Amino acid sequence: MAVALAKEPKNAWRANPCEGPLTVTAQIYAYDLSVRTAYLDSSRGYFNGPSVFLCPVGCEDIPCIVDIQGLDSAACSDWRIATTLPRAGAPAFGFGRFRAANYDELMDHPVEMGNFSLASFEAGGATHDITVTGDRQVDLGRLAADLQRVCAWHIDLFGGKPNCLAPFDRYLFQLLAVGDGYGGLEHRTSSSLVCRRDNLPLAGTTTINNDYLDLLGLASHEYFHAWNFKRIKPEVFTPYDLAQEGYTRQLWAFECITSYYGDLALVRCGLITPARYLELLGRTITTVMRGHGRLVQSVADSSFDAWIKSYRPDPNTPNAVVSYCAKGSLVALALDLMMRLTGRTSLDHLMRALWGLYGLPGVGVPEDAIPRLASEVLGADLSDFFARYVQGTEDPAIAPLLASFGVMLYMRPAIGPTDRGGRAVKEDDDPPRCAFGMQLGPNLTLQHVYRESPAERAGLSADDTLVALDGLKASETVVLQILRRRSPGDTVKIHVFRRDELKEFSVTLESAPNDTAYLVVDLVPSEEVAARRAAWLGTDGAESFKP
Ligand code: ZN
Repeated sequence: MAVALAKEPKNAWRANPCEGPLTVTAQIYAYDLSVRTAYLDSSRGYFNGPSVFLCPVGCEDIPCIVDIQGLDSAACSDWRIATTLPRAGAPAFGFGRFRAANYDELMDHPVEMGNFSLASFEAGGATHDITVTGDRQVDLGRLAADLQRVCAWHIDLFGGKPNCLAPFDRYLFQLLAVGDGYGGLEHRTSSSLVCRRDNLPLAGTTTINNDYLDLLGLASHEYFHAWNFKRIKPEVFTPYDLAQEGYTRQLWAFECITSYYGDLALVRCGLITPARYLELLGRTITTVMRGHGRLVQSVADSSFDAWIKSYRPDPNTPNAVVSYCAKGSLVALALDLMMRLTGRTSLDHLMRALWGLYGLPGVGVPEDAIPRLASEVLGADLSDFFARYVQGTEDPAIAPLLASFGVMLYMRPAIGPTDRGGRAVKEDDDPPRCAFGMQLGPNLTLQHVYRESPAERAGLSADDTLVALDGLKASETVVLQILRRRSPGDTVKIHVFRRDELKEFSVTLESAPNDTAYLVVDLVPSEEVAARRAAWLGTDGAESFKP
């Protein structure tokens, strides 16, 4: 017998009283290629629990049984299933019955279905599987071997000694390769990753190019979250209130420390050289220094506003919003280096303390706990540090700290629009001398106009489309030529379409800003500095710093 359902409020339905069990049938629209919701077509299916599983109010704590059936179609006859949802009858990588102890667990094991490639490795006594969907050329053996080193390092970091056991029996990397896309989402025993096919290691190659390095950094980041966010987590998330946003100013600690360790693990486990790591760090510093919003919004406020700002960028985002991930990872770097300067402790000790106090016993982290614990680990009051760099908008003073580790930080202008930083200028580079202070998007449309820039002062706006510069038909080449050949103080006439109206502006050029960072290593450091640097980067000797 049909039972009437009424929606009240937007995320709940009320059923009329009925006798016996109530069966609810729901059809889900699944067409999101991101790691956040669900996707289904004739070649692949993927879903996160919260996108598809209804929860009867008051039944959050009872066990759930899930039957996942393959599609009755020839196109899907070779499909397999990859999830860390505990099996309750389903064969390994096959369709069938799964179970979860409660709704919280049911939500946290996304399911990948399709004809994916599969590789496995062991780390910390746990089986780790990698599924790759969307690419057949990937060198899966190499990906597995590289991730094995990264995972073993993370396990030992939290365990505090070599050859520790992972806090789970099984872990799964669900990787989707696409033409263009990048991102990841962490879960308690798995992570969902989206990357470009270029990010995958190709069979027959042995070097780690920048694209593959990005993927290793992403996987390392999400894996670190298995401790720092999935097990050590803010008090307001224990339990999650699924009906509303869980507000916290602590995301910087969970995201930023994770971002810092995501890259650091790659050098500490020996996968990349210290020189390569310092190049990565230079790129992170560049990203932060180019974000004008860092002087407007604190890392703590950015954490709080993550629900409404971080994933909904608009043309004003670079002016008003700081990336708590990127800037926060520099706060984590500063904290680590300060701790290491004492010669007694490091951020590793703080992570192990957090793990012991909150992660292992499953207790939420109170809002003020991390600054307090960090002060305890350091043996000095860090209130001023957190007030200035986390609650406030000051940039952490990393240059003098890095210098104490025999690493010099330099800033220079960008060479061109694709220059992400991390390297010194080469002899044949021809960096622009001037800047407009605007970011070009597709089709010569202005994506961003930066605060207090020549473009803003002249009256240009985001979404204006360039038509001509100094009487020449606009193109990316013409823009770059003007910035290279003209001098600061020169005026450039710019014609744009603002919606359908032609407008003319006079922009007075400024010097190109020194917003691009690179790091140089002292190749003959004192014994003390060399030892400190070796302890930080897990290796010593000037040899290891050669690119
Ligand atoms: Zn993250």
